[in-house]
Amino acid sequence: MTRISKTELAKLTWEALCQAFPDSACSLDYDEPYKLAIRGILSAQCTDVRVNITSAELFGIYDSIDRINEASEEDIGRIIKPCGLYKSKAKSIKAFAALLAGEWGYEIPRDTTELMRVPGIGRKIANLIVGEIYQIPAIVVDTHCKRVMKRIGITKSDTPVNVERDMMKVFKKEQWIAIGHLSVDLGRAYCTARAPKCDTCPLNTFCKRSI
Ligand code: SF4
Repeated sequence: MTRISKTELAKLTWEALCQAFPDSACSLDYDEPYKLAIRGILSAQCTDVRVNITSAELFGIYDSIDRINEASEEDIGRIIKPCGLYKSKAKSIKAFAALLAGEWGYEIPRDTTELMRVPGIGRKIANLIVGEIYQIPAIVVDTHCKRVMKRIGITKSDTPVNVERDMMKVFKKEQWIAIGHLSVDLGRAYCTARAPKCDTCPLNTFCKRSI
């Protein structure tokens, strides 16, 4: 096969993923913006399914940001324990609630740097928040996205910020939000960490690893 440019690779990847996963979307449930942010905090080293179950319990008891702000770190920690790292996550949730109900005046910032003032909200979650809530172009590089992009040949890096930079160079701005979700879909369905299903993968005619 003739060598293809990274721009062409990105174009082929985008088309194949859109065709394979037409209903792709964020896998964290949310009906209110603050819930997405809290689910993002809970998602560190935890599955989205577990986050959705446990956070539904949390929001069933504390049904507003004010109620979360008033709750004790210990009580929050007890509920979110199944998500792991519960002490630091409870601290992050409390810090987020205090800023949102205080300094931020109940409006989630559009600025990722401001969001990253919350311990537990790093670049990945900040990008998820601004992308989902405000539709501000941002790429969420999670473990699936990182793995998939390296295998396809879009990046050589294992560092999320470098993967994000390489993706920004070749995917169009209007694709940035969706490409994160699409990569997760591919990573779960075909390009799994241990046993990628290259034989049936929709990207196998151009993916660097399989050709
Ligand atoms: S062809 Fe294989 S390595 Fe490449 S994206 Fe598909 S599953 Fe992953």
